[in-house]
Amino acid sequence: MQPILYIVIPCYNEQEVLPVTAPMFLQKINDLYIYGKISEDSRILFVNDGSRDKTWDIITELSMLDDHYCGISLSRNRGHQNALLAGLMEAKDKCDMCISVDCDGQDDIDAIDKMVDEYLSGCDVVYGVRSDRKTDTFFKRATAQFFYKLMTAMGAEIIYNHADYRLMSKKALDGLSQFKEVNLFLRGLVPMVGFKCSCVEYSRKERIAGKSKYPLRKMLSFAIDGITSLSVKPIRLITTFGFVVSLLSIVGITWSVITRFIYGPTGGWASTISIMCFLGGVQLLSLGVIGEYIGKIYLEIKERPRYIIDKKTKERNDS
Ligand code: UDP
Ligand code: MG
Repeated sequence: MQPILYIVIPCYNEQEVLPVTAPMFLQKINDLYIYGKISEDSRILFVNDGSRDKTWDIITELSMLDDHYCGISLSRNRGHQNALLAGLMEAKDKCDMCISVDCDGQDDIDAIDKMVDEYLSGCDVVYGVRSDRKTDTFFKRATAQFFYKLMTAMGAEIIYNHADYRLMSKKALDGLSQFKEVNLFLRGLVPMVGFKCSCVEYSRKERIAGKSKYPLRKMLSFAIDGITSLSVKPIRLITTFGFVVSLLSIVGITWSVITRFIYGPTGGWASTISIMCFLGGVQLLSLGVIGEYIGKIYLEIKERPRYIIDKKTKERNDS
């Protein structure tokens, strides 16, 4: 028996690009089937993340055209990570392996062959890693690189230049399903799941159509979310900084008391104000960082559902 592959594709307002890329995924599934690498029961699973355009209509039309297409629709927009998780969990009990990929054609579809080969040779997780970022703008490249460096420096274990293009076996998906956190950052969670893994390189292309849904503002909050979901290093840094400042202040106090007795009272308005402003800023920043973690605890403790499925496409042989 050949393994069943599910390709999970989150879609948010993608009516321009979906009709172009969907046949490419179908072609890939058919090719892999012909080469005898995957089962005929393999599927392309679209996750409609509360799109406001015709995305869901397109998905239902596709599912009526070919049995290999299927889809689920979330009750509202929940963001890329939650939509992706919804797809992975939907596929978990139906597939032997699952590949997550964006629907805009930016991630080279041909890397799927290499991923499946790695799976067949015994890997449970195969990360798609960008070999270059030539097609990204200088700004996107620089911010993305800064983001990876910052994450690693802050103690989050992530794979360099890997986004959410990856293969996971059923075993790895079962492992992932045990992580119940609401603050989802899949790139950091999957390495924590463990199992035998490998990387496959691919070159990142331009978006085929439509617009990116990740402006700088969202990327920044994604980076902050990633760091605070995976590591408590920022809080440790605050402690270290507080310790160093306390030591320095002991030196400063001793120095000011000694000079007071030797030289009498002296002016020092500018230095006092500078130190006060600096420490005030640092304290507010530190409170903000701690607040970020408290906010996360607040959200986790509520255990709200990460996504709610509204509807699913019908299998053609369903009555
Ligand atoms: N996406 C989603 N929900 C969102 C935003 C994006 O499901 O709230 C999907 C989107 O349809 C695409 C993928 O996530 O398939 C990546 O988004 P995009 O291509 O806009 O990001 P970029 O490649 O520019 O980082
Ligand atoms: Mg994209």
